[in-house]
Amino acid sequence: MNPSRLLLVVPCYNEEAILNLTYSTLKTYYAGIKERGLIAANSKICFVNDGSRDKTWDIIEDLCQQDDTIIGVKLSRNFGHQSAIMAGLEKHIDNFDCFITIDADLQDDINAITSMIEKHREGAMVVYGVRGDRSSDSWFKRFSAEGFYVLMQKMGVPVVFNHADFRLMDRRVLQELGNFKEINMFLRGIVPLVGFRNDKVVYNRLERVAGETKYPLSKMLLFAWNGITSFSTFPMRLVLYFGFFNFMVAMVIVAYIFFSFLIGHTVPGWTSTMLPLTFFSGSNMMALGLIGEYIGKIYEEVKGRPRYIIEKTVNE
Ligand code: UDP
Ligand code: MG
Repeated sequence: MNPSRLLLVVPCYNEEAILNLTYSTLKTYYAGIKERGLIAANSKICFVNDGSRDKTWDIIEDLCQQDDTIIGVKLSRNFGHQSAIMAGLEKHIDNFDCFITIDADLQDDINAITSMIEKHREGAMVVYGVRGDRSSDSWFKRFSAEGFYVLMQKMGVPVVFNHADFRLMDRRVLQELGNFKEINMFLRGIVPLVGFRNDKVVYNRLERVAGETKYPLSKMLLFAWNGITSFSTFPMRLVLYFGFFNFMVAMVIVAYIFFSFLIGHTVPGWTSTMLPLTFFSGSNMMALGLIGEYIGKIYEEVKGRPRYIIEKTVNE
């Protein structure tokens, strides 16, 4: 069996502090697996600059000049992690047999790449990198991240537990992925929907070697919220349950008022007017807000704007 042509796609946003190290580490690793005949000699590495405000693109251009196995893709502005990955993948779909996406910060153990390729050779079309050990993460990151996967699964989003965006995909899978047209690509949820035979590789998550996380709490929460509302209508159903519960409570209150009226106990009370009024208008607002959230999503998707815009590429 001929070794596959592999493209490694690395999204980069403000990664000047680490990019040279990432390059040399990946390069050495690539040389090793090329030598062992695991991947084809014309396998490449693609760095996607996601509108960085630092020197990331200059570094990528330098690397491309020194080394023609490096491809540089520059997006016209910051489109976000998921779109940067899609840009790197879709641009090169015709030239490679399989694709691995990996973060620029070397937190994903690159040694898992060999096992991914082996599983691909055994016939897996998707290989998920799964984080086994998170002891390098802060307790908060671990707690919030694992809570995120549990919540997703409970809400019916088909995510693979503790898998982020470190994965191998066969070209065939990528072709099908192109048919998922949503702009808010939540790849962790969409890739499992594509199907095909899949496998997992467990690795230990390492510490970020340099630079800082591009996912502060606010962005993480937004990411989780997008993941849930793009995939699951469970929150809407929750509102329905809540509305039903409110309705039942309202019935009890009405019965009480009616009963009071019958026994002639009808002193008009301010509290009993104001309390339900506030309560029900409050829950109404909540329901409207949630519906608005989904309508907002529909609005975003209906516009059909591009997921990313490529400004230029080097070493194509
Ligand atoms: N990233 C990106 N665009 C963004 C944010 C992040 O391309 O808008 C890249 C970033 O450079 C890194 C990867 O996505 O390669 C994951 O980001 P990070 O390591 O900051 O996330 P964490 O590992 O802390 O969740
Ligand atoms: Mg990281």
